[in-house]
Amino acid sequence: MATPRPAGQRDEPGMPRYGGIATYALLPRIEDVEHADVAVLGIPFDSGTSFRPGARFGPAHIREQSRQLHPYHQFLDVRPFDVQQVADAGDVAVGPYDIDRAVAAIESAARSLVAGGTKVVALGGDHTVALPLLRAAAAAHGPLAVLHFDAHLDTWDTCHGASVWHGSPFRRAAEEGLLDLDHCQHVGVRGGIYDPSELADDRRAGFEIIDSEAFQERSVGDIVVQIRQRLGARPVYVSVDIDVLDPAHAPATGTPEVAGLTTRELFRTLRGLAGLNIVGCDVVEVAPAYDHADITGLAAAHTAWELISLLALDGNRSGAGRANRAVEPHT
Ligand code: MN
Ligand code: MN
Repeated sequence: MATPRPAGQRDEPGMPRYGGIATYALLPRIEDVEHADVAVLGIPFDSGTSFRPGARFGPAHIREQSRQLHPYHQFLDVRPFDVQQVADAGDVAVGPYDIDRAVAAIESAARSLVAGGTKVVALGGDHTVALPLLRAAAAAHGPLAVLHFDAHLDTWDTCHGASVWHGSPFRRAAEEGLLDLDHCQHVGVRGGIYDPSELADDRRAGFEIIDSEAFQERSVGDIVVQIRQRLGARPVYVSVDIDVLDPAHAPATGTPEVAGLTTRELFRTLRGLAGLNIVGCDVVEVAPAYDHADITGLAAAHTAWELISLLALDGNRSGAGRANRAVEPHT
């Protein structure tokens, strides 16, 4: 079995991190590796957004802001690019005018990766992209326990006549039988509700809510215990809408909501999920035109790195036991 080619190793001698074309974390492209255990897949699509557009530029921005990611995770004690082969699978070719056609293209791209034994870490794109990603993951693993970080429920029905948009992916997924209806979890919910009936609809879609105020009232460790009990050993899909963060921590997003999580709270929560059976994940809703000093791009790039690190700890990971390969120090 080939030794994983780690991130940060460049073919060009002397090339600094900020030089050259950016793949995610300066990883090899997927066509340059024998097999990818994990693929970072960009989805430049935002035709499902209801407010600020611009998440179509999210994948390129996140890749640019991922140049500084390093090979060792000191809190999880893992080298996420050494113990599994992670590669950048580029972007799905999706046009902006036809949502159904785009969703089909995303599902097809994700299915072909999953069928080859590759776990997908998707970079959005608006949250519409979660629906085809869930279809692909559920086809391989059955109904999924979804762990959904978001200011919003995203279990709404239609908007301006569209049934597939960025506020409906988890409702459509529940209707299609893609979700384990007793074991899905929202984290960070706070905004955008018109009527309490939406909360009842949300429960029917399989979700329990840990709202943003929980992070004021409870310890993160306590919240992690609740999440782990909810998900158990089931196949878990983790979806991170970057608007779960406060606009101070992630201003560049489609539907910002004040009074959200800090980046530190999000990462502490994610690091508490070590050992869960994560089968796929996404980081969505980064709209770079609204960013300042790359705050949101950095948060998203590092969120994806946290998720990739969790996949490296997953007991079901293929390629477990591979020898580590030292990474050249990068200047
Ligand atoms: Mn949201
Ligand atoms: Mn969302």
